[in-house]
Amino acid sequence: MATKKFKTEVTDLLQLIIHSLYSNREIFLRELISNASDAIDKLKYLSLVDGSLKGFSFEPRIDISFTEDGKRTLTIKDNGIGMNEEDLNSNLGTIASSGTRKFLSSLTDEQKKDSNLIGQFGVGFYSAFMVSDKIEVISRKAGEDKAFRWTSDGKSSYEIEEAERSEQGTTIILHLTEDGYTFANRYEIDSLVKKYSDHIAYPIYLEYDKVNYNYEKKDDKGEPEKTSEHVVEQINTCSALWRRPKSEIKDEEYKEFYKNNYYDTEDPLFYIHTKAEGATEYTTLFFIPQKAPFDMNYADYRPGVKLYVKRVYITDDDKTLLPTYLRFVRGIIDSEDLPLNVSREILQENRVMASIRNSSVKKLLSEFKKISENNPELYDKFIKEYNRPLKEGLYSDYANRDALLELVRYHSSSRDGYVSLKSYKEHMPADQKSIYYLTGGKEETLKASPLLEAYKKKGYEVLIMDDDIDEIVISSVYEYEKLPLKAINKAAAMDDLKEEGDEKEKEEKKDLVEKIKKALADKVKDVRISSRLVDTPAVVVNDDNDPSAQMQRIMKQMGGPEMGDVKPILEVNASSPLIRKIEQSSDEEYVKTLSSIVLSSAMLQEGIMPSDPVAYTKAISELLSK
Ligand code: ADP
Repeated sequence: MATKKFKTEVTDLLQLIIHSLYSNREIFLRELISNASDAIDKLKYLSLVDGSLKGFSFEPRIDISFTEDGKRTLTIKDNGIGMNEEDLNSNLGTIASSGTRKFLSSLTDEQKKDSNLIGQFGVGFYSAFMVSDKIEVISRKAGEDKAFRWTSDGKSSYEIEEAERSEQGTTIILHLTEDGYTFANRYEIDSLVKKYSDHIAYPIYLEYDKVNYNYEKKDDKGEPEKTSEHVVEQINTCSALWRRPKSEIKDEEYKEFYKNNYYDTEDPLFYIHTKAEGATEYTTLFFIPQKAPFDMNYADYRPGVKLYVKRVYITDDDKTLLPTYLRFVRGIIDSEDLPLNVSREILQENRVMASIRNSSVKKLLSEFKKISENNPELYDKFIKEYNRPLKEGLYSDYANRDALLELVRYHSSSRDGYVSLKSYKEHMPADQKSIYYLTGGKEETLKASPLLEAYKKKGYEVLIMDDDIDEIVISSVYEYEKLPLKAINKAAAMDDLKEEGDEKEKEEKKDLVEKIKKALADKVKDVRISSRLVDTPAVVVNDDNDPSAQMQRIMKQMGGPEMGDVKPILEVNASSPLIRKIEQSSDEEYVKTLSSIVLSSAMLQEGIMPSDPVAYTKAISELLSK
């Protein structure tokens, strides 16, 4: 028997693992199962390619058993590739990766206490020392006759000796510490396997003694007779569906998988299964639920996407997996290239993860687009549920804004249902140079707005943006395919409607404008002659850089700063009878009353409460009684 000292970095690593991962020590089982699965992967591969093991036949399996009496042990056994003496020395006596070694030596004592840092590398096998005071590894390499036993207390040295093992593979026997005793338990093991390793592609069996009570037969103390039965039961479902070739998976299987794993009784609206090969290798399987998850618009919504590394569950912290606006997506990302113990903090900065995330977003958006083109009926259902989160994306995901602009839909002043920007553009008359929209209220109010009159007359469509987030979102989008987006309740949009003679009219009506301005004193920012009104006497609009009334209301609701007086601009229709009356009157009081009624009515039309409703009603009754 040879006793060997661990390389110093192993001793360091062991200390580091025990200290920093202790609170999460249950992960040791995941690590050991994952190693077993890798070992089977390796042997399977070698049995398929040319070499001495080609044609090697075996039934892959992983077996877990435990003893409860006396010194408790937990055993994990696989029939994978196995290790010979040299492998045991190099794999379990040193840290294989030079990157890990370098990383470890670069840590300061302070950093070593930080449990997040440890997650950067695969702690793997050594994590089992968090629950064991002695570990035996009995292994026989496939194609070789001799087996070896590696034994260590995880302190500073290990021993290797010859041993017996009837077939290839590795048996790991953990001699549990007092703290680790809880893991020598059928229910604990079962739940850990289901939590972390359910999708391991090979069957995992748990061996235990099942106690049966016979209530028909009582012993002299009146207790029912106990008999025990030795049971070997498969505890994982092996259902790594996403790993199978797409061509072999039936539609029904996808649907069943979705319903079983995402607590939905309905089939998904659609699903997207992608296998990426090349620089980064990964598989994604995404599902879109029929109905938006009930908590989609809550801050503490339940995330729906899980990250696996080589079929081992890592995290469901979806903020690092997909952008928040895609929080309605359910599914799996399974990477071949990430380290198993990658922590959330590290994930956020991990390049492989970033690349998977970017391509997943692109894939999802491009699939949504395809559906919008090829299956409008399905897309209608989709957009009814998910228009709003996609609009959030316009605001938060600048890199994908162009793709998102093709996906979002709006109501329209001239058509029923939802309209895309693309279709808006196709409907534009030749002389129209901008995309017009109106925000700030309910669909019905907006559709009745007098601001629409002139646009309708010219045959211009106006997008009706009645979602509360539209205004915030759309003000950050300046153009679509080189066409500027203009809010028609802003002053600038009027310039597009100018016709010949407008300038002359403005000159002629200078006195009228001054008269109303004087009458309204500090209630308005400006008074202008409107080019966009047909029947209505006046409208209020906002200066281009001022927030609209709706925006001010939202800011106030969200507890934002009081905006002070953001005064509107009053646009008057010089040819309307009411405005004419003002023009013709020389009674200052009368002009004042009329002007204030015009202003308040214009505000009411847009769903804005006049600042002094009492004065408004008073002015009206005064007028009526005259
Ligand atoms: P990692 O799995 O991240 O490489 P580990 O410390 O868990 O790190 O394992 C070190 C090495 O030991 C593995 O790379 C593998 O070569 C070998 N090994 C561990 N467990 C087994 C096993 N059950 N069968 C065969 N080889 C194993």
